Amino acid sequence: MLTSAQSRFLTGLFPGDACALSPEETCAFGGDSSRLFHQPWAVVRPEGREQVRELLRWADAERVPLFFRSRGTNVVGACVPQGGGVVVSTLRMNRIIDISGRDFVAVVEPGAVTADVQRACAAKGLFYPPDPASVRISTIGGNVSTNAGGMRAVKYGVTREYVLGLEAVIPGGEVIRMGGRCHKNVVGLDLTRLFVGAEGTLGCLTEVTLKLLPRPQATASVLVGFETLEQALEAAAAVFRAGILPVAMEFMAAEVLAALEHVTVPPWPKGTQAALLLQIDGSEESLPGELARLEASLGAESPAFLEAGQGAAEEGLWEVRRLINPASFRVAPDKMSDDVTVPRGEVARAIAGIREAAGRHGLTVLTFGHLGDGNIHVNIMYDKAGGELERATALKREVLGVVLGAGGTMSGEHGVGLTKYPYFDEQIGAAERRLMRSIKASFDPNGILNPGKAY
Ligand SMILES: Cc1cc2nc3c(=O)[nH]c(=O)nc-3n(C[C@H](O)[C@H](O)[C@H](O)COP(=O)(O)OP(=O)(O)OC[C@H]3O[C@@H](n4cnc5c(N)ncnc54)[C@H](O)[C@@H]3O)c2cc1C
Repeated sequence: MLTSAQSRFLTGLFPGDACALSPEETCAFGGDSSRLFHQPWAVVRPEGREQVRELLRWADAERVPLFFRSRGTNVVGACVPQGGGVVVSTLRMNRIIDISGRDFVAVVEPGAVTADVQRACAAKGLFYPPDPASVRISTIGGNVSTNAGGMRAVKYGVTREYVLGLEAVIPGGEVIRMGGRCHKNVVGLDLTRLFVGAEGTLGCLTEVTLKLLPRPQATASVLVGFETLEQALEAAAAVFRAGILPVAMEFMAAEVLAALEHVTVPPWPKGTQAALLLQIDGSEESLPGELARLEASLGAESPAFLEAGQGAAEEGLWEVRRLINPASFRVAPDKMSDDVTVPRGEVARAIAGIREAAGRHGLTVLTFGHLGDGNIHVNIMYDKAGGELERATALKREVLGVVLGAGGTMSGEHGVGLTKYPYFDEQIGAAERRLMRSIKASFDPNGILNPGKAY
């Protein structure tokens, strides 16, 4: 709890509605998309660097925990103020400061919504590729702090590849500037990268410089279904063998296709056991030829159906992918969601192991996601009210065992937060964890930033 002197400090630094203290006002900031919740002591909404500096100077001296938060779309509890503390909403720091077609950079404040940044870049013929499915509801600051991935990662990589420079305020109120507008930079240790994926544990981002690319002229997509999962995985491998690097390569296993049938009239014939959704991009002239090559490489595995589209038709093909989340709740009322990743060649083994474990526990598991990166979304569907929580938790641990056994990682893009924190030691060794914590201590010696999270 805050003392009355501490509350007075916050209302002085953040006048009017920039500071909320009552539980009725602050409760909306206690949770995130993990559905975990803890009541904040207060919520503040800085409008710029100077307020952030003053806040971090004070919080460090007073040992008040701070929890940075943008849109709260992370699914791992990364901005839940467990243990109590002040939530710092960055949404009023949302300016797009500069978009330069000369330097191919965008300079933005952390609270800028990613889709708004992409639109502003596109208006200048420029392209910011990272596209988490939450692109319309999440922010650049959140994406950087979670190193968000997305559909286009196969060809363009994840957020990390596009962060050239950062400005951050660290506990004590010092402003640090890392990297800049240069597309290459190897002077000193790469502190910029250290902040990418740090889940708000090192400092408060106040400005982000992003790398941009020229915007591709056109895209096309293909939705293709197979009678077996093995055929689908073989077709995916055939695409790479043909020398094609798709923008996106998503897959949906049989359980996902069955769930989708509850919410849409599917384009695939009955008996389809797996589907791939691929996107390619290029120039107006080159795209038809590339599309034909893609269809030919997929055709070698005799697909049960194949539909290609551009423009509005392409949008239609992606609709099924967007419907997976609502469709999943037709299977069961609750889910445990993981985004495990295995080496590309281990996807078949991992899915087989996950299915086998699910069968033993009598639960349905939906596997889908970014096949091109080996990043499998695993949704364990269960009924908490029906007493299935214990079985689901046991299954989650077994899924993790399967993934680590295949040389994988428990998270490819969502991070650790609170939900994966208990499993951290199963993947990361004691020496490595100690190093991570001592790095944090260099930035945050009193441990006031997002305590008890991530590593
Ligand atoms: C429907 C849906 C689809 C999704 N799809 C994807 C996907 O395809 N790929 C993917 O990677 N993720 C996905 N996510 C997860 C989520 O959108 C990402 O983790 C996203 O990057 C979080 O952004 P945010 O702005 O909501 O940040 P928040 O959830 O508010 O915060 C995330 C983390 O960033 C820290 N943070 C925020 N701002 C700052 C700052 N200024 N300084 C320091 N730290 C800060 C917070 O402390 C927290 O640790 C999805 C989520 C949903 C709900």
